[in-house]
Amino acid sequence: MKKLPHVTKHIFITGGVVSSLGKGITAASLGLLLARRGYRVRMQKLDPYLNVDAGTMSPFQHGEVYVTADGSETDLDLGHYERIAGVACTRDSNFTTGRIYSAVIARERQGGYLGKTVQVVPHITDEIKAAINSLDGDDVDIAITEIGGTVGDIESLPFLEAIREYRQAIGRQNGLFIHLTLVPFIKAAGEMKTKPSQQSVGILRTIGIIPDILVCRCEQHLTREHREKMALFCNVELNLVIEEIDVTHSIYEVPLDLARQSMDVYILEMLNLHVRPLAMQDWEAMLATQLNPESGTVEIAVVGKYMSLKDAYKSIYEALTHAGIAHHVGIHIRRVESEDIEKQGCEPLLKSVQGILVPGGFGDRGIEGKIAAVQYARTRGVPFLGICLGMQCAVIEFARNVCGLDRANSTEFEPQTPHPVVDQMEDQKRQTAKGGTMRLGLFPCALGKATKARAAYGAAEVAERHRHRYEFNNRYREKMEARGMVFAGINPASRLVEVVELADHPWFVACQFHPEFQSSPLHPHSLFRDFIKAAMIHRK
Ligand code: GLN
Repeated sequence: MKKLPHVTKHIFITGGVVSSLGKGITAASLGLLLARRGYRVRMQKLDPYLNVDAGTMSPFQHGEVYVTADGSETDLDLGHYERIAGVACTRDSNFTTGRIYSAVIARERQGGYLGKTVQVVPHITDEIKAAINSLDGDDVDIAITEIGGTVGDIESLPFLEAIREYRQAIGRQNGLFIHLTLVPFIKAAGEMKTKPSQQSVGILRTIGIIPDILVCRCEQHLTREHREKMALFCNVELNLVIEEIDVTHSIYEVPLDLARQSMDVYILEMLNLHVRPLAMQDWEAMLATQLNPESGTVEIAVVGKYMSLKDAYKSIYEALTHAGIAHHVGIHIRRVESEDIEKQGCEPLLKSVQGILVPGGFGDRGIEGKIAAVQYARTRGVPFLGICLGMQCAVIEFARNVCGLDRANSTEFEPQTPHPVVDQMEDQKRQTAKGGTMRLGLFPCALGKATKARAAYGAAEVAERHRHRYEFNNRYREKMEARGMVFAGINPASRLVEVVELADHPWFVACQFHPEFQSSPLHPHSLFRDFIKAAMIHRK
């Protein structure tokens, strides 16, 4: 008998009513369940904004910029895909309107459409379909594509048209639509309302999409009546009205909640795939540890400048949580605005924390507050983890206050500083364009013997993700080494400094790369893990 060609099945996830319903977490949770049922899953996010990638957006606008191993600057939902679903992401895991249009316009200029009028339909939609199709392969059983934004947005239209056409072409047994919607509880009426969801599905229907599954975000359980109403008015089967009730303690509960309602089973059946057994024991154990930490809590100060926005340092907060799980300890995060340190000093804001973390960042706002926080950690022996800009602050602080290099600084903040201990490499100085021009993605790092980093990783060479323009200036290395700074991690090819530590400090490690992007709940990152261990020792 001839073997049938391999078919990659597709799942499309849209969102309705309001944004921030947790589409990314839902998509990732589903990815995890399908992967745990033995299917090879790939994931993708389509973002309807005009930026070519997320790299040029402020965290205030869009939350953290997530960096993939291959160096693309992407939407933070890809972080959920990697952490929760365990699906590795690449440049092809995130397409924006800007990227799609750029490709079409470039092709038009090259004569790729000679004689034709280039239009949204079919040229933009074809380009979107090609992006979706790029997920297909013999090594992929199920591709999950999440559409950013909310149904009804003008800019979402070409994406919705593209997924409609795509499913039309592959057929229902090969492609499914999931719509995530909100069922709000209206206090004054004392009840939950399904109308917004009906209207949102109505908008989808005018475009020609009828969702196969409805996932309803709600504060309280859906009653049978709610489900029946939604099934009737939204044209979905009763058991495919899935509830996604607000999780109180951990987003890692979501996959288990969806599995309890057999959502993954229904999906596999609809896609004509075998329902293989689901193994989630390790996940359940991880969640139980997170929800009931036996070893109390440690308090960690994160000193940054986007503290009011919980998505701005998403991966950092997640990585701290993972490290807590590793030690069965709860993590309490004290969010400290570095500008408040500039006004009030460190003492009132950092007193009694068991660890201090200075994350990445750009621009000089709040920089002196971060440097003061480093000094506090160094002089008081408080465990310290510096990341990217956090490492640069650690170097500046040490240069000024230990090596006596007055006004030492990064040329990012003071181009005329007499001691540019952090500076741009020549190739960066030549860059004028801002998009996608930083030092991006995975680079190797060799770790020195008898360093804390080496002890944490248990390896002599590691690879970590980068996103920065500035570097430690190797001209200052000897001087700083002589005063006790340890240059623990070095790029073997370029000799760039990637990790610094302090010899006479309980735990002071700062890295030029972003370890947070490689941490997951089942595999906490080594540096975060040892940082939290040091914090627990400090607590005693
Ligand atoms: N602004 C610094 C640089 O470009 C640090 C970047 C970061 O923290 N991601 O080098």
